[in-house]
Amino acid sequence: MMNAAFAELKMNAEYRAVSLSREEFAVRFPELKRESSGMNVTIPYKSDVIPLVDELDEVSSRIGAVNVIKHSGSKYIGYNTDAGGIVNSLKEHGKGAPRSALLVGAGGAARAFCEAMNELHCASITVVVRDPVRGERFVAEMGRAFPNIRFGFATLPQLAHADTDLIFNATPIGSSEHTLPDQLKRVIYGHATVFDAVYRPMKTDLLKTAELRGCSVIYGYEMLLHQGALAFKIWTGREAPVETMRRALLNSLEAAA
Ligand code: NAP
Repeated sequence: MMNAAFAELKMNAEYRAVSLSREEFAVRFPELKRESSGMNVTIPYKSDVIPLVDELDEVSSRIGAVNVIKHSGSKYIGYNTDAGGIVNSLKEHGKGAPRSALLVGAGGAARAFCEAMNELHCASITVVVRDPVRGERFVAEMGRAFPNIRFGFATLPQLAHADTDLIFNATPIGSSEHTLPDQLKRVIYGHATVFDAVYRPMKTDLLKTAELRGCSVIYGYEMLLHQGALAFKIWTGREAPVETMRRALLNSLEAAA
């Protein structure tokens, strides 16, 4: 997706994926940082990199997660474009004003979702967690960051019904390793829009269920595309060629399916 964008704009740049174990991270990350003009950071390092950059933009500082780093002069600046990726995906589907949302998960993508909901003036979010202690902590923290949103939480077995206009999955549930729990299946119905952050496989069990039950769906690749387009602009100062990036992304996801 990024290399297709560089090629389209005839830029002399290359995007490379590097996988680091926890043991390698402390040594390799500073080297990689010096060697590149910009980076993406993904699971599980989005919070770990915060002390390793010089400045944070407003969003990454508020939600405590960085997914983009820009090398700017002598400084490394951390940004978060996951939230903007969620907002732009919803807007592209004409779903830019959810009243209430059901958020599954309480990690980095979930934090970005809360930021996105705040931007879209969503009034309430129920967070579905597997560990109530973590749920309570997450809800308290997000409540302080976003005082205009009413937060509550539930564990999966507590989930009886959900009268909500947006369901967002911010867990690996539905990816090849994790099946979709029945408790979650039960709350997918009606007018809700179901948005899955998982993008591999492209059509997850959650999205298949949602389509069968007449819900609108938004794919995880759409968030990936839009967060990437925002990152491209941060690194290069140029508008991203979004349709070229979309084609490249879909080709690579379809080839991997
Ligand atoms: P994270 O910070 O590690 O958080 C993962 C969350 O999922 C945690 O709340 C965790 O619960 C929960 N979880 C993990 N396994 C679970 C399971 N088997 N059942 C129920 N809950 C489970 O990860 P993240 O960065 O938020 O990423 C979450 C997902 O979103 C990943 O699949 C990632 O690939 C995807 N993502 C996609 C995009 C995109 O652009 N489309 C961007 C970011 C992330 P505990 O707290 O109990 O461990």
